Amino acid sequence: MKKKSVDTLVVGGGLAGSILAWKLMQQGVRTHIVFDPKIPSASYVAAGLMNPVTGQRLVLQEHAKTLLETSKSFYQSLEEHFQTSFYFEKPMLRYLRNQKEELAWKKRQSNVDYDDYLEATNQPKCILQHHTAYLDTQGLLRCLHEAFECRGMLSHATMDYDEIDSQSSSIRWQHISAQGIIFCEGWRGQFNPWFQYLPFQPSKGEILDLKTSSKVPEHIINSGRWLLPMHDGRLRFGASYDCHPPMNESITSHGKETLLADLKQMPVVLEDVDVMRQQAGVRPNTLDKQAFLGVHPKHSNIAILNGFGSKGSMLIPYYADVLMEHIQQQKALPKNVDIRRYSCA
Ligand SMILES: Cc1cc2nc3c(=O)[nH]c(=O)nc-3n(C[C@H](O)[C@H](O)[C@H](O)COP(=O)(O)OP(=O)(O)OC[C@H]3O[C@@H](n4cnc5c(N)ncnc54)[C@H](O)[C@@H]3O)c2cc1C
Repeated sequence: MKKKSVDTLVVGGGLAGSILAWKLMQQGVRTHIVFDPKIPSASYVAAGLMNPVTGQRLVLQEHAKTLLETSKSFYQSLEEHFQTSFYFEKPMLRYLRNQKEELAWKKRQSNVDYDDYLEATNQPKCILQHHTAYLDTQGLLRCLHEAFECRGMLSHATMDYDEIDSQSSSIRWQHISAQGIIFCEGWRGQFNPWFQYLPFQPSKGEILDLKTSSKVPEHIINSGRWLLPMHDGRLRFGASYDCHPPMNESITSHGKETLLADLKQMPVVLEDVDVMRQQAGVRPNTLDKQAFLGVHPKHSNIAILNGFGSKGSMLIPYYADVLMEHIQQQKALPKNVDIRRYSCA
């Protein structure tokens, strides 16, 4: 194969790798992206929900406004570029399930930071959440990958770490030489020899696509599990959460039964429910629930963008910029996501 020289080699074709490669390319950085489509990607399974207030304690994501603005403008710029829709704003009805959640809501009502995000409804145990949206992750990735392929900057291959030569000033892998390499392998980053010291804590999730004869709700419904009525008529329900190893992307009958039992507890009655599709994926969660960004402490041309857990759609556009500014302009990384919070033996 003809030799190719680039500035940056990106490993991983999920949201992290694809968004990073696109942003680099837009800046004029010569980029090549490699991923193995046979290695499952959480991004293809994800519902793409963007929800800045989460958990039983109704916690507002730090820097929510910046994260939401950055992701919205990024996804909308891609919609314009590809002349198709990926980003859908949709308010969420959040049903409070227990005293803990009711107490949290009571507290939040007197906190002005939440005014923009949470609103009372005429039902006592139901809140209306604003600034929620979802991303059509599959549609987006399809467009990005086609664009990379058209530009000859995509290889479909398994990255065998032994094939990477990082001894000289540039990185060499197969026919490609690069100034630097950025790993975005999702939960499989825990097997990467340069970054396996980082405490990944992956979690498996299963998700159902449903069909029903009932009228589907207008809002996203959240009551522990969420129900997402999509623009194309699909109704998605999920997702389960299992952090017991070993991890894999196989669907299970237990996962399906649990989700269908939970569907019956949702505050929306759906008649004649058929399961059209069941999928499973593994989220790249981390021990301290913060992302992993940075350059390897001993190898200045090896970097990582990973650890986005259940929030990749909202976090990745912003943190891809943060990592690029760190690498290109030596801007300090926010401490909470900097991989230097863990020591590498
Ligand atoms: C059921 C479920 C529901 C979810 N719902 C949401 C949601 O509603 N909202 C949200 O924001 N997030 C959600 N998530 C989480 C979301 O999927 C992740 O935050 C995000 O997709 C992570 O993207 P990533 O690119 O880091 O990883 P991935 O999407 O897993 O991508 C990893 C990439 O690396 C490649 N790869 C790995 N190892 C190698 C190798 N050795 N060689 C070559 N290629 C390799 C893979 O092929 C893949 O392309 C959900 C996840 C699951 C499983």
